[in-house]
Amino acid sequence: MTGFETLRLDGVTRRFAGADALTGLDLEIRRGEFIALLGPSGCGKSTALNCLAGLLPLSAGSIWRDGTRLDTLPAERRGFGMVFQNYALFPHLSVQKNVSFGLRMRGVPRAELRRRTQAAIRLVHLEEHATKLPGQLSGGQQQRVAIARAVVIEPSLVLMDEPLSNLDAKLRLEMRTEIRKLHQDLGLTTVYVTHDQEEALSMADRLVVLRSGRVQQIGTPEEVHTRPANRHVADFLGFRNLLPGFFEKDTINIKGLGVRTAGSPVRTIRDGAPAVAAIRPEDITLGGGVEVTVEVAEYHGREIAAEARTADGLTLHLRTPQRLAPGDKVAVTFPPEKLLIFPADDLPSEE
Ligand code: ATP
Repeated sequence: MTGFETLRLDGVTRRFAGADALTGLDLEIRRGEFIALLGPSGCGKSTALNCLAGLLPLSAGSIWRDGTRLDTLPAERRGFGMVFQNYALFPHLSVQKNVSFGLRMRGVPRAELRRRTQAAIRLVHLEEHATKLPGQLSGGQQQRVAIARAVVIEPSLVLMDEPLSNLDAKLRLEMRTEIRKLHQDLGLTTVYVTHDQEEALSMADRLVVLRSGRVQQIGTPEEVHTRPANRHVADFLGFRNLLPGFFEKDTINIKGLGVRTAGSPVRTIRDGAPAVAAIRPEDITLGGGVEVTVEVAEYHGREIAAEARTADGLTLHLRTPQRLAPGDKVAVTFPPEKLLIFPADDLPSEE
């Protein structure tokens, strides 16, 4: 395996027809890490992956493997494995032939080719399907072939672009665990593109959150989940209540409500400045000071997800084990330690 200690992206930028799809991406990937590139559609995730893979030339910046410049090398000389959303298998070749393709291209001797191909097929549990064509397999099995094909060349880095998005919910969960296990067992370094925050949080060692081609935050799942860097990351990571107001000392004034922020992780915000209070639906507690009327209640097994409204017309998203129903009047509290306060003008493009 052509291993490395670190892979460094330095100001990686890609423009299309004058517009930046990716701007100044700085990232250091350590050997054995599982990195997720996370963000909404069009944020530049695939562009970043394709720049790394060598499928797209950079408009600016550079990529380094230890001390060696990589972005000037063609894709096939980078020694990376790729797994795409649509599998990209050869339809006329058997599973075996699909998996061994990269080894054949590299002129690996016959006996070794056979051994490594079998090992890769075993790894993804497709022994019984080795002679079938992709068209005879289910979506999940096809995706396994694509994974075997990527790892058989013992790549120094595996790049995956939304590999699970064509699978049904149950299979997606199973494959998550399988990919993560494979990553651990083989000590693979992986860069994984997804727009699914749960997938990214559950699989990755570190997340890179992108928005409009710019990095918003790089951190462990816990850091990103509990301390999102700005309101956009918070929004994307499940803080469904983003309540605009004005900040004053230890209170944020939101549409007729004075919500106490003492104990909240508040960033430096001027008194009187516009601010956004962010809180997850499950962190708003029932009982307390703010009267709301339940308008919509959805059953989620152990919990009810509800939309409720204050007398002043502020909509709140709640999530609670209490069996709420439309029309119910309840009181709610915002625990200050669960409330994040962001300046309202924290857009990176405005900095
Ligand atoms: P998705 O999840 O929808 O694939 P993404 O986060 O992967 O989104 P990219 O595909 O990297 O986003 O696209 C980033 C931006 O660059 C988008 O605005 C997109 O329209 C633009 N873009 C991507 N590829 C091209 C291209 N070949 N030509 C012109 N614009 C492009």
